Formats: sequence, structure tokens, C-alpha cells
Amino acid sequence: MTTVAFLGTGIMGRPMAANLARAGLDVRAWNRTRAKAEPLAAEGVAVAGSAAEAVEGADLLVTMLADGPTVAEVFSGLALSPGTAWLQTSTVGIDWIGRLSEAAAAAGVPFVDCPVMGTKVPAEQAQLQVLAAGPEELRDRATPVFDAIGSRTRWLGAEPGIATRLKIVMNAWILTLTNGTGESLALARALGVDPELFFDVMAGTGFDVPYARMKGPMMLAGDYPASFPASLAAKDARLVVEAAGDQIDVAGAAAALAHLEAAVERGHGDDDMAAVYEGIVKK
Ligand code: NAP
Repeated sequence: MTTVAFLGTGIMGRPMAANLARAGLDVRAWNRTRAKAEPLAAEGVAVAGSAAEAVEGADLLVTMLADGPTVAEVFSGLALSPGTAWLQTSTVGIDWIGRLSEAAAAAGVPFVDCPVMGTKVPAEQAQLQVLAAGPEELRDRATPVFDAIGSRTRWLGAEPGIATRLKIVMNAWILTLTNGTGESLALARALGVDPELFFDVMAGTGFDVPYARMKGPMMLAGDYPASFPASLAAKDARLVVEAAGDQIDVAGAAAALAHLEAAVERGHGDDDMAAVYEGIVKK
């Protein structure tokens, strides 16, 4: 049976690890805050006391941690068995995916750059989309994992990096949509327009967007149960702005970043990214 060491059982990692066990893989999960991994024991996952313990003799290592520096730090403390391959699903950005890929190569560990699209509910329902880049010979080994966590895998190339680049492109869109929803709803309130009219008028038009309907009601209620924490959305907005560099002006992502940073400063870092609204409204 394939043994999978799963590191990071947060909002995304926990249901992903559960789905791997449900698919019949032998899963050992580790999380810095052990209490967040413990419920997985009831779902057939062995909860490890350390990352090193989780990876001992594993066929595959999956990382689903907050960001590049965290992944690098956790990986640097591991001694992988020969033959363990690493599927890196966290969103780390272009610079860090390069560094992680180099760290893997230096340690002789085959590496797949495989960020995922989809949030908490798609993760629970095994409906993530996997964007994957890595050596051809790893594809068969990675497929049972990708099939267990997602509904679609796109292999984008043999070189790690291209999957992360596509993830950055998609995140620029998602951040712009969320920020735009917040700006229109805040503007409606400021101008004395019933914000519900924003949704009424878009209904059935080409500019109707399900995402606005997911995030908008949270903004109007001022209640933000996290599917994607605002602090990590700010990290992703920063990755978009960094990726654009001096080549193009990503003013939409930069605006999302400024508003997310303001929301985080106001104490909404652990709230859903819809709390960008709290950074839009001037206090
Ligand atoms: P999350 O619930 O905040 O999980 C973050 C994970 O990273 C937790 O396991 C956390 O451990 C761990 N971590 C943070 N700092 C650490 C450190 N210094 N050392 C060890 N572990 C550390 O966030 P998430 O939503 O699952 O996101 C995980 C990754 O997936 C991020 O890269 C995110 O951008 C990406 N992503 C998220 C979504 C989404 O919609 N949520 C969608 C696609 C991709 P603790 O529990 O101990 O804090």
C-alpha cells in the first residue's frame, strides 16, 4: 500500500488528508498544532508526533503548509528515505518554488510542483483542481494522490515552476474579483444604494459572477467564517505583485493587497479573505 506523509492539516490539508485515507492510501499526518490533526485519527489517518516521524519510510511526502519559508523550514528538518517523492501543494510563489525545487534536488528527492485550485468545501468534497509540473516518471506515482483530492489534474510540464505560475495567474483573478465585490458593496452603502440591488441587477447578465455571490453576503453580514484566511490571501496578493515585477502593472492585485493588509491590521487575519471589505471601508 502506498504510504503518504502529509504535513500541514489546516483548512485545506485536513480534508485532503482525510480524502487520501478514504481512497485507501496509508496516511500519516503531522501538524505543528497537533490538536488540529487529531480529529483525522477517526478518519483512518495516523497522527504523527513530528514531521520526521511522519515521513519515515513514506513513498510520498505531501506538503500543505502556509507559505514558502514554512515549507522550506519543515523540509530542512527531514531525512527522507531514498525513493520518497515530494508533492508540494502549498501556494509558495515563483521564487520559493525555485528554491524548494533546488532543495529537493540537493537532497535527491524527486519533486512535483502541484498547487491546487479550490477552497475549503471543494477540498472536503475531493473536488480540487490540481495544477501539476514535474518529471514524467513521477506521474503514475502522483496520480492516486491527485485523484483522491481532486476532480481534475492538469499536467503542465516536466519542469517545476509552470504550475505555480498558473496558480499566480488564477489568484490574480480571484483576488481582483473579491476586492471588486467589496469595493462595489462598500460603494453602494456609501452612496445610499441598497447593496442587494448590486446582486439583483447582475442577475442573468454577463457580469454576474458566482464568486461575488459567495463572498458578498459575508461582507454584508460582517461575518467571515474562513475558507481562505485573509492573512494567506494577503500573502498570495504579495506573490502576484512580486511576480509581475516591473513588467506589468497589476493595480488590481495591488489594491487587493493594500485592502487585505489593512484588514489584517484591523484584526481580520484569521477571517475569510472576504474580510478584505474591512480594509476597503475607511475607519
Ligand atoms: P491554514 O488553515 O492557515 O493552514 C496553514 C498550515 O500551515 C497549518 O497546518 C499551520 O499549522 C501550518 N504552519 C503555519 N506556519 C507554520 C510554521 N511556522 N511551522 C509549521 N507549520 C506551520 O491555511 P490553508 O487555507 O489550509 O492554506 C494552506 C496552503 O494552501 C497555503 O499555502 C494557502 O495559500 C494554500 N491554499 C489555500 C486555499 C484555501 O482556499 N484555503 C486554496 C488553495 C491553496 P498550525 O495549524 O500549527 O498553525
